Amino acid sequence: MSLRASVTSALFFDSVRVPDSQRLPNVKGLKGPLGCLSQARYGITWGPIGAAIASYTSALEYSKERILFGRPIAATQAVQLKLADMARRITLAQLLSLQLGRLKDAGTLQHSQVSLAKWNNCRMALDISREARDILGGAGITTEHPPIRHALNLESVITYEGTETVHQLVIGREVTGINAF
Ligand SMILES: Cc1cc2nc3c(=O)[nH]c(=O)nc-3n(C[C@H](O)[C@H](O)[C@H](O)COP(=O)(O)OP(=O)(O)OC[C@H]3O[C@@H](n4cnc5c(N)ncnc54)[C@H](O)[C@@H]3O)c2cc1C
Repeated sequence: MSLRASVTSALFFDSVRVPDSQRLPNVKGLKGPLGCLSQARYGITWGPIGAAIASYTSALEYSKERILFGRPIAATQAVQLKLADMARRITLAQLLSLQLGRLKDAGTLQHSQVSLAKWNNCRMALDISREARDILGGAGITTEHPPIRHALNLESVITYEGTETVHQLVIGREVTGINAF
């Protein structure tokens, strides 16, 4: 039901022996693999922003064309508040990823900062795609408009590379100093 443009399957590795020649070079323990995850998750913080912008744009355009009771639904305060709030949340996510990129360039990026951004940006985009689908009314459940596709795809993005809950627990550990996993 999600990310249907790519082949997704469960892979099981039973009794697999990995030869020494395939070891990650110059790393000990989980530090190497976890370091790779931080890099991938940084990239993932940007992807949902695009999905959110596409959903927001689709809802914005539709709201200006959809006439109800003699005026476009974009002329109602309820729809404008939703659109304004989407623009606010998208802008904040963009600034968050931009700052992460700056920290990455400076070599000072912390994995917990990546967790916070992955959590924030996926949640932001999932919420916005669902709200955009709502602004589209019944038309929003068709493939003619992108928000429902983005919402379904974002269910994967908020799950892979660490679920939302797991990233929340990373931040919980960071602020309390207590590991609750
Ligand atoms: C489309 C897609 C592509 C993927 N691609 C890859 C890939 O290329 N490579 C790869 O290795 N994996 C991949 N995954 C797997 C993905 O990383 C896992 O699905 C994800 O990490 C969650 O693990 P899980 O499915 O085992 O869920 P579980 O770990 O079983 O989690 C189930 C639920 O329990 C919660 N939970 C887990 N632990 C705790 C805890 N300590 N405290 C509280 N709640 C907890 C979770 O947040 C979740 O809500 C992919 C998944 C999807 C959906």
